[in-house]
Order: sequence, then structure tokens, then C-alpha cells
Amino acid sequence: MAQDALKALGQALPEGAIVIGADIPASIAADWSTAEPVMPMALIRPRITAEVATALAICDALGVPVTAQGGRTGLAGGAVPAENGVAMSFERMAAIEEIDPLAGVAVVQAGVPLASVQASAREYGLMFGVDLGSRDSCTIGGNLATNAGGTRVLRYGMMRENVLGLEAVLADGTVISSMNRLLKNNAGYDLKQMFIGTEGTLGVITRAVLRLQPAPAASASALCGFRNADAMLGFLMRARSRLGQALSAFEAMWPSFYSHMTGALPELRRPFDAPHGLYVLIEAAGAADEAIEERLHALLSEALETGEITDAVIASSERDRADLWALRESVAHFGRVLGPVIAFDIGVPIAAMGAFVARVEAEIAEGWPGIIAMSYGHIGDSNLHLVCHLPGAGADQPHEAVSDLVYRRVVEVGGSVSAEHGIGTLKRKALALSRSPAELALMARMKRALDPNGTLNPGKVVTA
Ligand SMILES: Cc1cc2nc3c(=O)[nH]c(=O)nc-3n(C[C@H](O)[C@H](O)[C@H](O)COP(=O)(O)OP(=O)(O)OC[C@H]3O[C@@H](n4cnc5c(N)ncnc54)[C@H](O)[C@@H]3O)c2cc1C
Repeated sequence: MAQDALKALGQALPEGAIVIGADIPASIAADWSTAEPVMPMALIRPRITAEVATALAICDALGVPVTAQGGRTGLAGGAVPAENGVAMSFERMAAIEEIDPLAGVAVVQAGVPLASVQASAREYGLMFGVDLGSRDSCTIGGNLATNAGGTRVLRYGMMRENVLGLEAVLADGTVISSMNRLLKNNAGYDLKQMFIGTEGTLGVITRAVLRLQPAPAASASALCGFRNADAMLGFLMRARSRLGQALSAFEAMWPSFYSHMTGALPELRRPFDAPHGLYVLIEAAGAADEAIEERLHALLSEALETGEITDAVIASSERDRADLWALRESVAHFGRVLGPVIAFDIGVPIAAMGAFVARVEAEIAEGWPGIIAMSYGHIGDSNLHLVCHLPGAGADQPHEAVSDLVYRRVVEVGGSVSAEHGIGTLKRKALALSRSPAELALMARMKRALDPNGTLNPGKVVTA
């Protein structure tokens, strides 16, 4: 079967579109998650949608699993190829086809890196609302397939809110071109939603129409120190009411994260002399006449006066701003600082956040003496990240037992086992904790209807 498939693919696709054997780069086997790497039997590198369709039709007919890959920065194992399957990379479909400043849209191919879209939009005085720490490597196809979130969700929403249309190829090779550019279009089902956040299990995304926003002319950032979570939540409400739409980021770092990362990475600046009970990186952005800096200053003075904030450092230059963001984006160095980790991306109701972190960090410390457990997250979006590492355990981290503990507490507070990274393979067991049997059955029905042979990214998200 494998040989038949390779022969058929080799005959149907142009030269250079299929790579096999030792020529497949080793990096193709893994993503950024802790999922076990799997080497595919072939790597397909289409240049156009028609080649994607041809390859999928052949694989579907011959029973060969296909895993779409973007930048492989995913944190749930979704981009890891299936055994005896093929990986489909979009590195040669990475063009920005058009930017239409009047309509405020960008038409792009799936393999374009997020940072390239952001840079192109800026040239037109526009911006793309989604931003992640992995911006230089992750792709629009991967961002759509995971419904990525990031640091600007508070203001612009997740990937789903920033796309107007897309083109996808079904398992049997049918091309669904749904490249809508209109802000309002209720003509029948909104088909693009089937491919957003479904991690390459219902179709392979080839192109998209993205929604662009006016680029803010002014922005201001500050790092704030708090006594505790209650003070931080009071400040979040004040920031929302004073800044409104101008509030563009509200990223929290618990001392467990802040102390460990600033201690481990000497290149990070420590803006405060004294430690705090919690840290928040706040950003405001808006038009030139919105007095953004003044409004942020006024908000901070007010909150310092009421005692909500214990201390604050305002970025006074682009360099300062980059230094503050480097603290938050030091998450990219977990591999170097910690080694293998047990990572959680959970949804927790904002009001429960403080007590949740205190309890879970304490229970983990009690259960695994010496463990490092660090909390941080997009708190304005109810999204907490918790990263654990047990020194001395090497690759043998206590994944299962720590996950049982954390997810038990997530269920108790009515949270979610995945806020933005998706399910992939790593959170499949946990999915049933966040979804009802009826919801899971409907997901399986959708999978069977669109991919009856189980060709697309099998083993990920749902069991059909
Ligand atoms: C340092 C760092 C910071 C991060 N920060 C954030 C963050 O703040 N918020 C957040 O949400 N995520 C974050 N991530 C996770 C990751 O960057 C996102 O999930 C991103 O959207 C994945 O994009 P990718 O191109 O790398 O996709 P991949 O990892 O290659 O793939 C992810 C999933 O999408 C599928 N897929 C990829 N391309 C296609 C396609 N064309 N068609 C159909 N399916 C496809 C894959 O099969 C897989 O299931 C971070 C990761 C890192 C390493």
C-alpha cells in the first residue's frame, strides 16, 4: 500500500512536490509539544491548491493518513504525522496574494508566517489583530486550524474573529472555495467555521481572507506589581472602564513564573527592586488623538492611590517596551531553562483565578516536592497557562498524575481543558471533561461525514 501510494503521488505531482526517505528533514517528525515524534513516509510540498487536492484524493483512495503542517509550533501534538502517513507542508504556499486597504482585507496562502502578514499590513497603515510569541514561525493555516489566541484577544478576538473567508480541501480532494470578503454574509451556512479550530481533521486550509484593522498610531505599556489576585482583578475592571477599546493586552505573571524566569535568564531586566504578589503587563493602544499615554498614566495613578497597584513601571521608549514584553515572551525559552515540561493551557473563570492558582500550585508542590510549577496567562481572556517541571525526572515527567490533579480542579471551577492551544493528541483524554457526550457524538458525526475514511490527521481531537 505504501509503495502504491508513493508511486501514485510521484506520478501525479510535479517534481519537488514529494520528498521521501532520508531526504525528509528530521524536524518534520515533531511539533513544539511533548508528543512523541513520528517520521512520515513522505513529505508533500504543494505549490498550488490543485496539487493539495490531487495528493489528498490519492491518499484518501489508498488509505494513507495526511497531517497538514504549518510552522509546527503547535503545543498539543496536532502536527505530528501519523504512523505510515504523509505530512503536508505549506512552506511553498506562503504568498500574500493581495492587500486591499479599502476593504481592510489580506488574501493569503496558508503557509505564510503570521509575522509576514503583520509586517505587510503595517505597510498600508493597517494591522492584523492576532499576535503570538511564535509569530515568526507559525503560519496562518496553523493559526486558523488551532483558532489561535495570543496576547490581543481582549481587543481583537481569536483567529476566528479575524477571518472573513477561506479555501479548504476535503479528504476526497474536493476544493471548497469560500473566500468571502464581505463583513456581512448570511447566505447559508458559514462553512469556514468547520475548518477553524478543528486542527486539520475536517479539511486542509489552503488560502484565507483575513480581516485587517486600522493600525493604532499610539501605544503605551506598563508593568504593574500587585499584592494579590483580588487587587489585580479590581484593577482589570478599572482598566476596562477607563480604557475601553484601548485596552489591548493584560498579561499576568505569578511570582512562580516571574522569579524563576528572571532568575534563569540573566538577559531579562528586573524592573522592580522589591518582589510582588502578582505582575501584570498592561498595554493600551489607539488613534493619535486618543491620548493613550496620558490615559494609561491617569489609570495607573488612580490605581496607585487606591492601593490596587503596589508599584508600576511605564515603558518610556521602544527599548523599554521590548524589555517588558521579553519577560512575558520568555516562555519561548522553557526548553532551554527547564527541559521537558508538563504544560497546561486552561480556561478558568476570571473570578476564580486567584484561588485556583494558589490551590493548584500548593497541591502540586505538596504532591511532588521540589517540582517547579509556574503560572502566567492571558488573564483578561480567562486563560491560564501552568507549566511544571520535576527536576531530576528527565523525560519521565509525572504527566498523568499532575494532569489528573489539575483537570479535577478545572472541572470543579467550570473551566476548560484547552483555552487556545487545542486538543491534538495530548489532551484527547481530557476532552470529555470539557464536553458533554452529545457534543462529542456530534463531533464524531461531523468527522465521519466529512472524512469517512479517516484520512485527515487521524488520532487527533476526536474518535470518529
Ligand atoms: C513560543 C510560543 C508561543 C506561543 N504562544 C501562543 C499563544 O499565545 N496563543 C496560542 O493560541 N498559541 C500559541 N502558541 C502555539 C502555536 O504557535 C499556535 O497553536 C499556532 O497557531 C500553530 O501554528 P503552526 O503554523 O505552527 O501550526 P502547526 O503546529 O504546524 O499545526 C497545528 C495544527 O494545525 C494543523 N494545521 C496546520 N496547518 C494547517 C492547514 N494549512 N490546514 C489544516 N490544518 C493545518 C496541524 O495539523 C495541527 O493540528 C505558541 C507556541 C510557541 C512555540
